[in-house]
Amino acid sequence: MTARLFSFRGGIKTDSHKTESSTTPIAPAPLPQRLVIPLRQSARAGARCLVEPGQHVLKGEQIGVPEGNLGTAVHAPTSGTVVDIAPYPMAHASGLVTPCVVIEPDGEERWIEHAPFDYRAAARPAVLAYLRDRGIVGMGGASFPSHIKLGPGSGFDTLVINGAECEPWITCDDCLMRERAAAILSGATLLRELLGATRTLVGIEDNKPEAIAAMRAAAAALTEPLEIVAVPTLYPAGGEKQLIRVLTGIEIPHGKLGAEFGVQCFNVGTAHAVHRAIHHGEPLISRVVTLTGNVAHPGNYEAPIGTPIEALVALAGPQPGTDRYILGGPMMGISLPDLSIPLVKGSNCVIAASPALFPPPPPELACIRCGACARACPADLQPFELYWFARAKNFGKAQEYNLFDCIECGCCAFVCPSHIPLVDYFRFAKSEIWARERESAAATQARDRFEFRNYRQEREKEEKAAKLAAKAAETRAKLAEGGAAAPAAAPDDSKQALIAAALARAKHQQATAHPRNTEALSPETQAEIAEIEARRRKAFPPQTDTTASSVPQTEHQSAGEDSK
Ligand code: SF4
Ligand code: SF4
Repeated sequence: MTARLFSFRGGIKTDSHKTESSTTPIAPAPLPQRLVIPLRQSARAGARCLVEPGQHVLKGEQIGVPEGNLGTAVHAPTSGTVVDIAPYPMAHASGLVTPCVVIEPDGEERWIEHAPFDYRAAARPAVLAYLRDRGIVGMGGASFPSHIKLGPGSGFDTLVINGAECEPWITCDDCLMRERAAAILSGATLLRELLGATRTLVGIEDNKPEAIAAMRAAAAALTEPLEIVAVPTLYPAGGEKQLIRVLTGIEIPHGKLGAEFGVQCFNVGTAHAVHRAIHHGEPLISRVVTLTGNVAHPGNYEAPIGTPIEALVALAGPQPGTDRYILGGPMMGISLPDLSIPLVKGSNCVIAASPALFPPPPPELACIRCGACARACPADLQPFELYWFARAKNFGKAQEYNLFDCIECGCCAFVCPSHIPLVDYFRFAKSEIWARERESAAATQARDRFEFRNYRQEREKEEKAAKLAAKAAETRAKLAEGGAAAPAAAPDDSKQALIAAALARAKHQQATAHPRNTEALSPETQAEIAEIEARRRKAFPPQTDTTASSVPQTEHQSAGEDSK
């Protein structure tokens, strides 16, 4: 049965620029001198480092264990020596810096022991944990952990495999589908079984006829309830909500996910990685990346995760006139501030941009409220309203107008006659909101810490007072035993008890160390004391004037004062 197609609202037609990089087979990228593997593969969460400098690692060995639910396991893409663990900038619009494991390859490509995983014999949680530990994440750009998207294993009826690859210039999924269709569909079968879905729909834009043919040929060999569907080429048909709408007719409302409507969506690259993990025991350590734009050898390369972008750029041969590099596509990608940034699991394309290919935008003008942006928005938003709120830093209102449903597709900015870089405003507003949320979370944490410290100090004070009271009681008891008069103290007042005990102690010490009754002293001692008293009286006769000036000073004291 051929799936009925639906249309999504908005969207734009762009020049696809696909043929520049899709005419040659996927080539393996050589190992660079150093691999820089970020322990954080997305801005969401990171991994805890498992290795240390000087350690030798094997290809596929785990070097980072996911932190929290959204962290990603990280593995050595080749065998070699860990030479450094240090912060490096990562591929993110915010210029985020993240700890990275730097590996110097030994060139031997020695694997850890790995074997297919018998997923049919394992319980479902064990299969999900296996995928988590192999570092499987969404390879369409979001890098969201796949085992979380697989959910509880029920409540899904449709699996959507996303082969639309709608953004101009990018062709890595196209080439993957042409060359590895059987492996992708094997992964799709695994994903469908794990979801508990009853059907699989693979959506591919109709500007990729070779990929559609290859996938249909591979699907013909299966007995799966699986359909390869050619969808109209319209940017952004590859957006998750848009592709679900086109293939199933389900309109997912603001703030909701496909999973809430029984549909889950995975990229073709993710399905391929799931196949490699389950049927070959391989963690996700490399990916296919498109190198295109103003380069001599555009094409698709399978490169180890952690390859610095400069090494990839050198492979493609940048041409004179290149003035910047874009990671991702021209609509949703970011301009790279630094070519030492390494490839991560979600990096699908590097474009060498020149003014000839990407002319600088004309100057920004005032919004004329023409509404073109709203008509082009596939997320049913009012971009000009969001723009005003972001500009005025009225972030509460921006959120009220569903800012976080913006997929940053760039359709609004593309059609804006005033050339307003709308997406930049939306990214700014989102990052400000996130920063404020982080600050507020940090303030809550600080308050909790302060309150806990106060509680701890109070508790310590009480414990100390109780200890002192016990000690005071003990002292009183001892004094009472020794015949000394025990001071009266309120038994339940620890401070009073303490003071009374201290006074009693001092009294007892005075009585024993400095007896006032000189008659008790020996006659020799009494004579010595009398002699000392007489000498003292002669040297310092008693005076009526008791001011400080009358007190005699030693020479040393006087000299000391003068020298100041
Ligand atoms: S398209 Fe541009 S000028 Fe027109 S309403 Fe939107 S932001 Fe304003
Ligand atoms: S960038 Fe956001 S607001 Fe603009 S068209 Fe895309 S989804 Fe709509």
